[in-house]
Amino acid sequence: MIYLDHAATTFVKKEVFDEMEPYFTKKFGNPSAIYKLGEFNKETIKVAREKVARVINADSSEIYFTSGGSEADNFAITGVALKNMYKGNHIITTKIEHKAVLNTCEYLKNLGFEISYIDVDKDGIVNLNMLKNSIKDSTILISIMFANNEIGTIEPIQEISEIARNNNIYFHTDAVQAVGNIKIDVKKLGVDLLSFSAHKFYGPKGVGALYIKNRTKIDSLIHGGGQENKMRSGTENVPGIVGMGKAIELSYRDFEENTKKVFSLKERLINGLFNNISDIKLNGHRNNRLAGNVNVFINGVNSTTLLYMLNMKDIYVSSGSACNAANDTPSHVLKAIGLTDEEAHSSLRFTIGSENTEEEIDYVVKVLKESVDKLRKL
Ligand SMILES: *Cc1c(COP(=O)(O)O)cnc(C)c1O
Repeated sequence: MIYLDHAATTFVKKEVFDEMEPYFTKKFGNPSAIYKLGEFNKETIKVAREKVARVINADSSEIYFTSGGSEADNFAITGVALKNMYKGNHIITTKIEHKAVLNTCEYLKNLGFEISYIDVDKDGIVNLNMLKNSIKDSTILISIMFANNEIGTIEPIQEISEIARNNNIYFHTDAVQAVGNIKIDVKKLGVDLLSFSAHKFYGPKGVGALYIKNRTKIDSLIHGGGQENKMRSGTENVPGIVGMGKAIELSYRDFEENTKKVFSLKERLINGLFNNISDIKLNGHRNNRLAGNVNVFINGVNSTTLLYMLNMKDIYVSSGSACNAANDTPSHVLKAIGLTDEEAHSSLRFTIGSENTEEEIDYVVKVLKESVDKLRKL
């Protein structure tokens, strides 16, 4: 099997799994219990929280574990909106966000909030002038993703953060695709809230975190026993949290080496595709993109058909994002960068991981070329 869909999810690294396992079977105590079996897990969570915090240069009191990236996005946006509605009801986001952000904004719109959706240019970079011009007295939150999950484009987060700060507006960034792939320093960036998710960096599914800068005014979404400093109730997912701590530590321990490898495989794939297949175009920014992301428009072929042909050869890629791959609506991200419906339906996403090899990339180019030739002759 050749797996080239790391933006959808990754496998759990053996070292990560090994560290998690005892917390399912032996060290299963509830962290809120006051006997040893449980109490030890309080310490376990503390250690994991410190690992996660250190990697993004946060204080450990600013890390809140969640059930994943979607919950972290919901928590950030709904939490800030509800807590700050006395100040205003206006939220700014972009047209290329993940559905976890877009649909949370739609939900808030139905509650009476006003949402502005900022345009992006043909490479997927947000229009900063439009952002500045959209700000009003009633604006309470800006939510703009760090890096796009479909086209890999990296946004000017530091500049956006400055714009938000100068206007006294909270800034949230969905960094689910960035954490593990880009070095992040929340203090230097000056963001107020940042979402991330373990299964995007070789950790387990169903666990993520929200960084909330100290003194940010935010409501909790999940009410109950008061875990996570009263901000996110529910018995903690101890094995998941342990796995997230280990996974983030590993991603940054081998960061330079992995990034270099993934980057060079990406360049190999891009060159292979452009040298072997005619009439194709790269979606997203040529250079300012995630190291492992290749999204291409291949003229005259339907990407779902292509995806099934690759699937027959045990090559796993994505057409659009995992969330809308199953239905027929063209990707909102590809539409936002100016592709027609038909062009969007002829685009394929490859996302490379550090375990992929040059041989795999060359094989994929070969199979893809044969498949495209076949489809174009039909
Ligand atoms: C995967 C992803 C999410 C959702 O994270 P889950 O942990 O799957 O809920 C949100 N935003 C982006 C950009 C993603 O890539």
